[in-house]
Amino acid sequence: MTLNLPKLINEFPLLKKLIKLQEISWFNPNITSLKDGLPYVGLDDHDIKAASDRLKRFAPYLAKVFPETAATNGIIESDVVSIPKMKAKLEQEYDTIIQGQLMLKKDSHLPISGSIKARGGIYEVLTHAEKLAIKAGLLQESDDYSKLDTDEFRRFFNGYSIAVGSTGNLGLSIGIMSAQLGFSVSVHMSADARQWKKDKLRSHGVNVVEYQQDYGVAVEQGRKEAESDANCFFIDDENSQTLFLGYAVAGERLKQQFDDMDIKVDQQHPLFVYLPCGVGGGPGGVAFGLKMAFGDNVHCIFAEPTHSPCMLLGVHTGLQDAISVQDIGIDNITAADGLAVGRASGFVGRAMQRLLDGYYTLSDQRMYRYLGDMNQLENIQLEPSALAGVIGPIIVTQNKEYKERLGFDDAKMNNATHLVWATGGGMVPQKEMASYLAKSAL
Ligand SMILES: *Cc1c(COP(=O)(O)O)cnc(C)c1O
Repeated sequence: MTLNLPKLINEFPLLKKLIKLQEISWFNPNITSLKDGLPYVGLDDHDIKAASDRLKRFAPYLAKVFPETAATNGIIESDVVSIPKMKAKLEQEYDTIIQGQLMLKKDSHLPISGSIKARGGIYEVLTHAEKLAIKAGLLQESDDYSKLDTDEFRRFFNGYSIAVGSTGNLGLSIGIMSAQLGFSVSVHMSADARQWKKDKLRSHGVNVVEYQQDYGVAVEQGRKEAESDANCFFIDDENSQTLFLGYAVAGERLKQQFDDMDIKVDQQHPLFVYLPCGVGGGPGGVAFGLKMAFGDNVHCIFAEPTHSPCMLLGVHTGLQDAISVQDIGIDNITAADGLAVGRASGFVGRAMQRLLDGYYTLSDQRMYRYLGDMNQLENIQLEPSALAGVIGPIIVTQNKEYKERLGFDDAKMNNATHLVWATGGGMVPQKEMASYLAKSAL
C-alpha cells in the first residue's frame, strides 16, 4: 500500500520513537470490559471447551508416543514458579518496588517442542488429523486414540501433507507432531530460524525449506506450496482460529494451577500477564483464554522487540495488518527469533485489541541481560524471545496514568500477581545456550 508516513506520524506521534527504535510503552485508552469486547473475538467458551476436549481425546496417544508427557497423562502443560531473586534484581536495578508477587509460566519447558507453540501448533495438527480420520471412517470420538500409533494410521496420514511457514518454533511443533502421525510435512523457515531447529526437524524426516528473507516470505511460500496440492493442508499462523484456540486452553489450565497453589485472582487481587508477541496468535490466544478464565481481573500486556513492534504498530494506528514495520523503516532484525515478525496478524489485532491493556517494546540487549540473570539467579534457561515479559512489572508499576485509570491503588497492587510468560528455550542445545549466555555477559 502507499503510505503517507509524515501524515501518519503527525496523527500518531508515538511512531517517532518507534522509528528511532526507542523502548516505548502504550497503554490502550480504549480497552473495554470482557462483556463489551467478546463479540469482536467471534469465539467463546464453547470453542475453548471443544479444544480442551479434543486435547483430552488425544492425550492417551500423546502419552504413548511422547513419553515425556506420560507423567501428565498426555496433557501438554507447563509449571508456574515463583522467581523471587529475579524480582529482587529488577527492584534493585530500577529502584522500584514491585508490589505483589512475581511468577514465571514455563511454556519454555512444555514437552514435545519446548515452546509456547506446543500449544497451538500441535493442537492444529491434531485437529486436522482427527478430521481426516473421522471422515475416512477410521476413527470415532469415543475411541481410544492411542490406536493412531499404528502402521495403518501412519499409512493413511502419509497420503496427506502439511505445510507451514515459521521463524522456528512453530515449525518445530508442527514438524515433530505431523511427522509422528505419519504426514509428509514441509516447514518453510525464515532467515531468522536457528540452524539447530532445522537440523532437529530434518532428523525427524521433515522437509525443511530455507529462505534468506523474513517470516512473511516463508509464510507466503508455504501457502503457495499448499495451493498447488489438494491433499496439502496449510497451517496459517497469521489467521488460524484453530491455532488460537489451542493457545486459549492455557487459560483454564492456569486457573486450575492457581487454585492448587492458593493464588487468588479477583477484583482485589489483579493478575498482570506479560506475553512476548510475534505475529500475535500465541499471546493473543493465551490472552483470550485468560480473559475467559479470569474475566476482567486479568490484565494482558504484549511485549515486542524494538526492531519488530508489529502488533503495537498495527493496533495503535488502527491499520492492523495493512501496515508492516518495514513500511515505517524498521528492519525486523532481532535476536529474538520467535518475535521477528514485521506484520501482525490482522485477525488477532482486530479480535483482541479491546481486551489488551497495553504493549511495550524492549531492546535485544535487555532480553540478553535478563537471559543471563534468569540463568544465574533462578537457574532457568530461556531463549531471548522468552525474556521479553520480564520488564513488564516495572513498566506497569511506573505507569501512574494506567494504574489510576484502572483503579489500581496500593491495596490492590500489594495483592497483585505478575506473571511473566516464558515462551521458549527448553530445547536449546547446550552449545547454543552457552553462546546466548556469553552474549548476555557483554
Ligand atoms: C512464536 C513465539 C512467540 C510469539 O508467538 P506469536 O504467535 O508469533 O505471536 C513468543 N516466543 C517464542 C519463543 C515463540 O516461539
